[in-house]
Amino acid sequence: MSKYDVVIIGSGLGGLESAYILSKEGYKVLVLEKNRQLGGSLQIFVRDKAIFDTGIHYIGGLSEGQNLNQCFKYFGIMDKLNLIKMDEDGFDRISFGDDIGNEYKHAQGYDNFVEQLAVQFPHQREELKTYTKLIQDVCNYFPLYQLREDDAPILGTKYLDVNAKDFISSVISDVRLQNVLAGSNPLYAGDGEKTPLYVHALVVNTYIESSYKCIDGGSQIERWITKNIKANGGEIRNYSEVKKIVEKDGIITHVELSTGEKIEGKNFISNIHPATTMEMLESTKIKNAYRNRINGLENCSSAFIIDIVLKPQTFKYTNYNIYHFGENDVWSAVNATPEMGTNAFCIFVPKSSKGGQYADSMTILTYMKFDQVKQWADTFATVPKHNDSRGEEYEEFKKKKTEQILDKVESRIPNIRSYINSYTTSTPLSYRDYIGAKDGGLYGIAKDYRDPLRTFISPTTKIPNLFFTGQNLNMHGVLGVTVGAIRTCGVFVGQNYLLKKINNS
Ligand SMILES: Cc1cc2nc3c(=O)[nH]c(=O)nc-3n(C[C@H](O)[C@H](O)[C@H](O)COP(=O)(O)OP(=O)(O)OC[C@H]3O[C@@H](n4cnc5c(N)ncnc54)[C@H](O)[C@@H]3O)c2cc1C
Repeated sequence: MSKYDVVIIGSGLGGLESAYILSKEGYKVLVLEKNRQLGGSLQIFVRDKAIFDTGIHYIGGLSEGQNLNQCFKYFGIMDKLNLIKMDEDGFDRISFGDDIGNEYKHAQGYDNFVEQLAVQFPHQREELKTYTKLIQDVCNYFPLYQLREDDAPILGTKYLDVNAKDFISSVISDVRLQNVLAGSNPLYAGDGEKTPLYVHALVVNTYIESSYKCIDGGSQIERWITKNIKANGGEIRNYSEVKKIVEKDGIITHVELSTGEKIEGKNFISNIHPATTMEMLESTKIKNAYRNRINGLENCSSAFIIDIVLKPQTFKYTNYNIYHFGENDVWSAVNATPEMGTNAFCIFVPKSSKGGQYADSMTILTYMKFDQVKQWADTFATVPKHNDSRGEEYEEFKKKKTEQILDKVESRIPNIRSYINSYTTSTPLSYRDYIGAKDGGLYGIAKDYRDPLRTFISPTTKIPNLFFTGQNLNMHGVLGVTVGAIRTCGVFVGQNYLLKKINNS
């Protein structure tokens, strides 16, 4: 008899949330994580005493009565988190290279959102109202995001095959305003040719409802959920890399770790990329057509990130994010050439409990495709176990890229270099190695309005005791992954039963 009812591969947010739900329901759960730190993209790191997030810069929907707040109450962490509400009148600020000096604010609360933008776009007030009404209407077609019990299938819903860029331009006549409204699209690696409207709507909706930063980083979410999983009797092991998923007579019997250790279980949930999961699994139960479909799915773009330790008491803390675009077309930034790629950047300023009115650190993110670091694809580095150097040329490449980006940032934050104490950078290789992200892709499988059903991954597979969870399922981000965990665990305990429990928490 195997010791575990459920073995979960990967301790990303989706893996941990699934472990919490199932251990709370009496399942004997084990989570296996390859890294030292748990949490996947919830991980933080520290340089010169400054804390940096790797994948959670801000979170939406956390105010009382909102969807993520309710979920976090269910996970027993809402009252534990150390959060700061971002600027109500402008949590995201969009700016353009041809319009320096002007910034366009995304505000919290739908009425406030319209009013703040109507200051700069007074003739578009009615169009803005139509836009916000339609965004909420789109979200209504995704009942799970509102924690509504609803048996309607997620597939076949209205709006799946609508293009986000076309939708915005059909409602908003001013071209600058169209781009302002889509200005936070690096949040979902927005691509004008592909991104479906529902991706834009679900993401912006959650932040317009409310926007928060985690003080001292997002890893506190991992810490509290982990504690609660253990209190439920669940087990979590780090440094436990799964190398093989073994099937016999149509069901998974065990997984094999890189050490050769075999771990048996009754059920297995993969919190890692479906294509990587398939690579680890030898089974005739999974048809080649399915494998080919999964392997053929495109992943979101990756990024080049500069994490800056600021000189003490020099740069005032900003309670908002900056999204800056060299050109007016925000939808083309994701596909810009390497030279042009530095034209668009996002700036996130972490909130530290020590910093007071000054910031300790700053993160600058620009798009970067895996191709740009392909020549170092054979190297692997995660600290502290695999501290391989990728070589001098790689260091030079990163340095040159950083200088190019800082030159561009200079237009948005004059004298940026004068605030810098030190910096570190990460590339698509960092996300590939630490998280196991395919091609270092920021948010997993890219969604495409032209064939929306192809990019939806079911939590179930042809093998009855193998399941998926995590950002590749429906949507990425804290909310998307949480909804994914509800879908996955709903297969075990009943989705409406689980929603009732969450709504009554
Ligand atoms: C740069 C960046 C910025 C972001 N900013 C935000 C933001 O501001 N707000 C927001 O809501 N979302 C943001 N996101 C998205 C969000 O962080 C992710 O969607 C979410 O955390 C993904 O969770 P997941 O459950 O899919 O697991 P992942 O984070 O993908 O974790 C997977 C885990 O599996 C482990 N693993 C991989 N292979 C194996 C193996 N063979 N054996 C054992 N373990 C394995 C990995 O080490 C990792 O711990 C951002 C993402 C990135 C990359």
